[in-house]
Amino acid sequence: MSFESLGLEPRLLKGVAAMGYTVPTPIQNEAIPHVLAGRDVVGCAQTGTGKTAAFVLPLLQSIKPQGGIQALVVTPTRELAVQIGDVARDAGKFTGHRSVVIYGGVGYEPQLQKLRRGVDLVVATPGRLLDIQNRGSINLSKVKILVLDEADRMLDMGFWPDVRKIIALLPTERQNLLFSATMSSDVMRIAGSTLKDAVHIETSPTTKPVEKIHQAIYPVNQMQKAELLVELLKGGELNRVLVFTRTKHRADRVHRILDKAGISAAAIHGDRSQSQRQNALDGFKRGSTRVLVATDIVARGIDVEEISHVINYDMPNSAEDYVHRIGRTARAGAEGSAISFLAAEETSTLHEIERALGEVLVCEDHHGFDYKDRVVPMADRTVNTKSRAVFSSGVMGRRGGGGRRIGRR
Ligand code: AMP
Repeated sequence: MSFESLGLEPRLLKGVAAMGYTVPTPIQNEAIPHVLAGRDVVGCAQTGTGKTAAFVLPLLQSIKPQGGIQALVVTPTRELAVQIGDVARDAGKFTGHRSVVIYGGVGYEPQLQKLRRGVDLVVATPGRLLDIQNRGSINLSKVKILVLDEADRMLDMGFWPDVRKIIALLPTERQNLLFSATMSSDVMRIAGSTLKDAVHIETSPTTKPVEKIHQAIYPVNQMQKAELLVELLKGGELNRVLVFTRTKHRADRVHRILDKAGISAAAIHGDRSQSQRQNALDGFKRGSTRVLVATDIVARGIDVEEISHVINYDMPNSAEDYVHRIGRTARAGAEGSAISFLAAEETSTLHEIERALGEVLVCEDHHGFDYKDRVVPMADRTVNTKSRAVFSSGVMGRRGGGGRRIGRR
């Protein structure tokens, strides 16, 4: 399929070409014709599948430039809002559409100014949008298209009451699009109450991480996690690395340890101001920061290409978070590795993740590392001791880098 054959108009095609997209991704192929036909759509897709353009492109085609606010995208985090805004700006480069991105943690005035000048599309996080509505500074009475992006995350983050208030402000006659990485019963309930006769699109199984990610478990004592991380990074083969910790406090701690070890790093989490987060992300994108330490709350907003490795310094709380975290690597067809540090007390989470993935992950040792207190938490698998091979890009595609996959569950 080509973008032309999906029914997009020439000015949008020009924008798409300028963005460097040549072939639509599966979700774009599936969603764009239905959205253009005016149907409500439920899309089950992770970040990294091209879902943003899957709704932004047809949405721009369906709304008139200089026609007032006709489309509203509601999304859980500032980072996602900014990214969607960027796609709208780039895709709409030749169409004359104007958009504004509304999110908290920054001053109101620039956002209000854009609203006053007139916009066709609003991309917003729920809290700030309601604030602006309560000040009487936005008119949502002409909205024809509503997009609920990352609906599962909005539910997890407790935004649903706000989202409902926002929906109540919109005309009842409208087109609705809902995207979610997972389709829990709660998400389905929301879809059922908000959408009409929706087309369901699913381009990848709910909890399957994208292929091309080499996944490995590194059993390590809690006390040695920091040491192992520094050791791995000293190897120099991990060039753009995203490290996940369980808490903000631990993210800051890991950041300090890396600083001390002379490894360029930054931390990004919910307690950082918007400008601190943006600076950290910019440095990471530019490559001046090699390691970004993050918590789950900001994981979805991190859309950086060429992340070579995701390291779960702490195991995530759920299989869903695991898939989201490791999905930050191997973007847009590239290859990547995901390493999970596993302390003995995290074994039950690993089992839960493996059940959801339907596979047993390979355990590896970092060659030459002094594991003072060995942790081999699972009797049901062997540990590959030649893990270094995994990091040379030439063999990344070889699952396990010489390690054995123990079997499938
Ligand atoms: P998303 O899932 O919307 O976060 O998109 C993931 C990444 O894929 C972003 O970096 C997009 O710029 C990129 N992308 C989206 N659609 C395409 C396409 N058709 N061709 C190439 N890259 C794309």
